[in-house]
Amino acid sequence: MIEYYSMKEITILSGKGGTGKTSVTAAFASIAEHAIFCDGDVDAPDLHLILAPEIKETHPFPGGRKASINPELCTDCGLCRDYCRFDAIHQDISGRYYIHPVQCEGCRLCERICPVGAISSEQSMNNFWFVSDTRFGKLVHANMQAGEENSGKLVTTVRNHARELAKAEGYRFIITDGPPGIGCPAIASITGSKAVLMIVEPTRSGMHDAIRLAELVKGFNIPIFSIINKYDVNEEVAAEIESWLHSDNIILLGKIPFNEVVVKAMIEKKSVIEFDPDSELSYILRSSWTKLVSELENGQ
Ligand code: SF4
Ligand code: SF4
Repeated sequence: MIEYYSMKEITILSGKGGTGKTSVTAAFASIAEHAIFCDGDVDAPDLHLILAPEIKETHPFPGGRKASINPELCTDCGLCRDYCRFDAIHQDISGRYYIHPVQCEGCRLCERICPVGAISSEQSMNNFWFVSDTRFGKLVHANMQAGEENSGKLVTTVRNHARELAKAEGYRFIITDGPPGIGCPAIASITGSKAVLMIVEPTRSGMHDAIRLAELVKGFNIPIFSIINKYDVNEEVAAEIESWLHSDNIILLGKIPFNEVVVKAMIEKKSVIEFDPDSELSYILRSSWTKLVSELENGQ
């Protein structure tokens, strides 16, 4: 049994969505041994599309508060709308007031100012996290409703549970498909990781986003690695990214060329390595994983 102390938690991130983060996570999932997987992109999860989880456990997760108006009590005075600074209160075509649940931030001000006590709020219980079996191992993932808050807390919940499982069952790796960007969910997915793998696309905005992400990760004193995806779409910018990575001591694990195999594999709900194991892409991804593991083990 592998001891917990040797467990490595790797978070795969990108400065923005759509850079191929999930395809890389799924490829690593298909070759990593003794690994458990996490989908930390709770606002827009898509790892399940490839890993096809069979849900074994479902747990509710309390979201933010949402206010609503009792039409029986409301006198349509409009005071609540005037005070709501999130513009969440509207009138329908008959002039009745209602609160849009996605726009409501749950501040409860309207509850306090309504002269007839027509407004109340409740904590949303529409969010869930799951523990599932997949053909590669266990997946801990979640489903956050649109307009909900607390996605950072949900990411932390999912990761904490993955850690508990890893500890109890002796996994060697936790591989997390993290959320894009540098907001609260990304911060929640970086905290406590042993390494961050950053997926970068060769565009000016992609490079800018990656620099901001790298600055964020450095603040946590965690080693950063990188993969440049679709590098041949703009080799000039890819070369600039490579030079920046080098000067910033960020190890480049691999450069992936554009290849329609990625989309074909996604359509078939397979990782690239499962779909076309002998392709150049599969070779690069396998070699990137091997390098990453070797760097982490040597750096221990
Ligand atoms: S403040 Fe109260 S009574 Fe006035 S519109 Fe809003 S809910 Fe209705
Ligand atoms: S709870 Fe706050 S955000 Fe929601 S409708 Fe009332 S005043 Fe607006």
